[in-house]
Amino acid sequence: MSKKYDCIFLDRDGTINTDPGYISKLQDFKFFDFAVAALDMLKTLTNNFIIISNQSGVARGLILEQDLIKINEYIFEEFSKNNLGLLDIYYCFDHPDNSSGRRKPGVEMFVEASNQYCLDLSRCLMIGDSKTDILPAKVLGMESMLVLSGEGEKYKNSFYEKEKPDYISKNLMFGAIELIT
Ligand SMILES: [Mg+2]
Repeated sequence: MSKKYDCIFLDRDGTINTDPGYISKLQDFKFFDFAVAALDMLKTLTNNFIIISNQSGVARGLILEQDLIKINEYIFEEFSKNNLGLLDIYYCFDHPDNSSGRRKPGVEMFVEASNQYCLDLSRCLMIGDSKTDILPAKVLGMESMLVLSGEGEKYKNSFYEKEKPDYISKNLMFGAIELIT
């Protein structure tokens, strides 16, 4: 039987790891202590995770792409070690003052992923801690969850009726529990 979601898209900073701002070195990247256990629960709902992340620190000159690649390798290793199917990581380096449709809330990274992996976006879920994670999900007809870790608390009451996420949860762990029970 197919699982509920073709894919669960995950924001990175503030959703699966702490967000101290512009993480430029691997040693500054810390998964939330609940992240692996939460993802393990979410795995009952999907075979596929994809990370979709704005990293304007690259355009700002605060993050080197080679350091971001090291962080990616570490994330892939951790997912793999814990038997979590991470299909891909999509990044957008654009500066917000000069951004393409790839930068969230733009939809293009999601569209690229759905084309590349033949995903039915109406059968996908996006989880993130920012309004910019929820808005593209709404445009694309995906389910969405705002987590209040990271910056989420700040955005909780910022949604118009039509923009509201399907779920609002304290963090990825509470969200996973809500989704599987
Ligand atoms: Mg975030």
